[in-house]
Amino acid sequence: MYLIGLTGGIASGKSTVAQRLAELGAVVIDADRLAREVVEPGTPALAAIAKEFGADLLQPDGNLNRPALGAIIFTDPVRRERLNAITHPAVRQLTRDRVAAAAAADPHAIVVYDVPLLAEAKAGGLVTFDLIVVVQADADTRIQRMVDLRGLTREEATHRISSQASDAERLALADVVIDNTGGLDATLLQVDALWERVRTAETDLGRVSDGIRSP
Ligand code: ATP
Repeated sequence: MYLIGLTGGIASGKSTVAQRLAELGAVVIDADRLAREVVEPGTPALAAIAKEFGADLLQPDGNLNRPALGAIIFTDPVRRERLNAITHPAVRQLTRDRVAAAAAADPHAIVVYDVPLLAEAKAGGLVTFDLIVVVQADADTRIQRMVDLRGLTREEATHRISSQASDAERLALADVVIDNTGGLDATLLQVDALWERVRTAETDLGRVSDGIRSP
């Protein structure tokens, strides 16, 4: 098994790169999706949130009222920390479970963990990545994409970028940088080259762990 941490700033193109890697055969685990899964109705994390923040944060159908919770934690860092203390361990556990399941299903799987907050996942000792890939596009390009494709105002898009880690902080973690400032074709070529590289690396890892020396 070979584990890639895939990150990048908002609207940098992480999902686009992850989708290509999935088409090439990678198992993609989406951290944002796991964060939603751990608070689905019936989960221990959702019960803990209702206990901490009040049952009126649940909608009549049992789902979490995200806007209401968002309004509370947006202005209150202490309560945001309490929420994180509930959800983060649950996401970490689910991530470990999913990575383990991918490895059990295929010992030679190439697994991509698509995670906007990779620095935090790393600091929390979540998993050990074989390779960290950062998708990079300059801020102007990302703002324009958010305005054109997601209907945000320029101010909203700029604010979202400035509330995240800086490009320099992300790039400091990178083993590989995918430049997604240009057209999609140029990006996909870089992803295909990355795929060839990690396939070779996974094969070499497999040889080592099978006790067979690499040539
Ligand atoms: P988020 O941080 O919000 O999850 P993301 O990093 O996953 O975003 P994508 O969703 O892959 O980014 O890309 C953002 C938007 O820009 C999407 O609408 C996508 O189709 C578009 N996009 C991605 N790459 C390119 C490109 N090279 N040229 C033009 N549009 C692109």
